[in-house]
Amino acid sequence: MTDKLQVKPVRHLLGLSGGKDSSALAIYLRDKIPEMEYFFADTGAELPETLEFVDLLEDYLGKPIVRLNAGRDFDYYLKLHNNYLPSPGQRWCTINLKLIPFENFIGDDHAISYIAIRADEPDRSGYISKKLNIKTCFPFKDDGLIKDDIKNILESSGLGVPDYYKWRSRSGCYFCFFQRQEEWIGLKNNHPDLFDRAKEYEKVDPLSGKKYTWNQAGTLDELLLKPRKEKAVKLKKSKKLIDNILDDENDSDDGCLICTL
Ligand code: SF4
Repeated sequence: MTDKLQVKPVRHLLGLSGGKDSSALAIYLRDKIPEMEYFFADTGAELPETLEFVDLLEDYLGKPIVRLNAGRDFDYYLKLHNNYLPSPGQRWCTINLKLIPFENFIGDDHAISYIAIRADEPDRSGYISKKLNIKTCFPFKDDGLIKDDIKNILESSGLGVPDYYKWRSRSGCYFCFFQRQEEWIGLKNNHPDLFDRAKEYEKVDPLSGKKYTWNQAGTLDELLLKPRKEKAVKLKKSKKLIDNILDDENDSDDGCLICTL
């Protein structure tokens, strides 16, 4: 008698960042793909609002959102990188805390990864794995869903959006170097403890005077003293938070898509 070959079913995976688009996609697909596996690559430096929102989303989805990176957070990898802070040109944080955990989570299984790029974002593609066992799928693009549809999905679910959108335009680590000056000001105003913690990561070499900072413009204290260039993420009186976010969204300023979608 010959053993029948056991073929493993294709896995369906959706990575959540705590941002509006991936959250809306999870809501959109909840009943369409019941076998979906959800995951959240926690960097250990997430905003409390993000963690709260992921918990709420987990309740809504009715199944666990697997937290990746247990025990290996940003500080762990910072030490491995000789305490050199990441930067737009040296994104070891994205690689170690987002991309590698995602690919390890899948292993050699055949999987479809669902990405929350919308139909009105022709120039964005998100993270596409080069591993041949991982296929990528763009349900919003394929179904022609645009900004207003995302808003409707989030509103009708009752979840809305995380509170950090009142002062910040994207999800991600509280100290993310992609933040604009106004967002650093928002961090200082809303989470002074986290702002102080972000400052503690910055170093000045006493011998050379070289600065190791989050922003090329200087230390966070110096950055906040500079004239303000960007418009603040402010709630317009007549609008709800979600409307302001969609108005304020700057599609060309991608930052770290895998962290923020
Ligand atoms: S949110 Fe920013 S700091 Fe955090 S992992 Fe992504 S790029 Fe790095």
